[in-house]
Amino acid sequence: MTRDPLRLADRMRHIGMSPTMKGTMEAERLRRQGMHVVDLGAGEPDFPTPAHIAAAGQAAIAQQFTKYTANPGIAELREAVGARYQAHYGVQYRPDEVIITAGGKQALFHAALALFEPGDEVITHAPGWPTIVEQIKLAGAKPVVVRASAEQGFALTADLFLAAVTPSTRAIVLNSPGNPTGALLSEAEAVRLAREAGRLGLWVIVDLCYELLIYDGVSHNLPKIFGDVMRDRLVLAGSTSKSYAMTGWRCGWMAAPKAVVSAANALQSHSTSNVSSITQRAAVVALTGPQDCVSEMLAEYKRRRDQVLAWLGAEPRIRCAVPQGAFYVFPDISAFLSPNGTRTSLDFADALLRDEHVVTTAGEAFDAPGFIRLSYAAAIDRLDEGVTKLLQFARRQAA
Ligand code: PMP
Repeated sequence: MTRDPLRLADRMRHIGMSPTMKGTMEAERLRRQGMHVVDLGAGEPDFPTPAHIAAAGQAAIAQQFTKYTANPGIAELREAVGARYQAHYGVQYRPDEVIITAGGKQALFHAALALFEPGDEVITHAPGWPTIVEQIKLAGAKPVVVRASAEQGFALTADLFLAAVTPSTRAIVLNSPGNPTGALLSEAEAVRLAREAGRLGLWVIVDLCYELLIYDGVSHNLPKIFGDVMRDRLVLAGSTSKSYAMTGWRCGWMAAPKAVVSAANALQSHSTSNVSSITQRAAVVALTGPQDCVSEMLAEYKRRRDQVLAWLGAEPRIRCAVPQGAFYVFPDISAFLSPNGTRTSLDFADALLRDEHVVTTAGEAFDAPGFIRLSYAAAIDRLDEGVTKLLQFARRQAA
């Protein structure tokens, strides 16, 4: 047998670069050419990291807190995560049930590698954040994607997941509030899903990366609802990225039964080791310090959400669900896709970038063609400019 030495490992055959990062790269290229680009593609806050949090990072450097830490993170931070979950949700996680990870992304990756294997089916949802499906595949398991309906505002329901359960189902991975839709799994639906998933012996992995970005005071206590019924098979992934405008610091966590956290600790010890010591000090201050920064950012996101919805509402051919959390709207643009103009939402987003220099993310990136994602983590005048250009462009397509 001859082996091709340049061949990549088989597991790489179905894995591509995260599609949500492609728009950002193209926008960067245009900017370098001196173009004025309106970026509504960003998956991250446009706010600076709050000053008191940044100061804690600077103090860590000044104090030479710049060496390896314990692999699962400093005790102070793991305790802070436990205390946060206790205060916020009334659930208890001891420090050995928490591991600090390089963003929520790594927590979810650890969970996939620790729990899924070939022969397993893992149910997740579309529209959805693309990494979840790729991580399931990387773990050798089969993703089973259920579709939330635009007419129902993309709400996740217990039935949606339960209808896809087979004897091979190992787990359900859900993201609420969701990217790209901002939709939630409501507490009532969570109660039903927890009861059934518990009865069926499934694992539930909840990506709570936008947990502090929920509008209108909607109660969303998934940790308690699932924890009450199936705490021994529940994995929670959280992050400082979105709530505290800390995407570049790379800090998240997993709260889970001790055996899963130990497995994650082993994986992390042989891959990335501890999260940056400096970041960890800043994250302690993010979680334990004043929280006004979060409510201020949330109020501004809500103002922008309502404004963007109002602008889009002026065009009756665009239908757009009202997001309950996160910082994206996900309008249906299918009325503007035509054989004469742009045919797919991917063509639409590409042409919008090429012709109008407005960055959006095509629904294809979230397994939902016919839609585009606009991030309102951008200043209101940029949003005004971007949505105006988008509407003009769309109308030209339909003409
Ligand atoms: N989950 C979702 C749904 C996301 O949108 C993101 C970031 N785009 C993450 C998790 C991971 O973010 P981080 O690794 O920065 O915590």
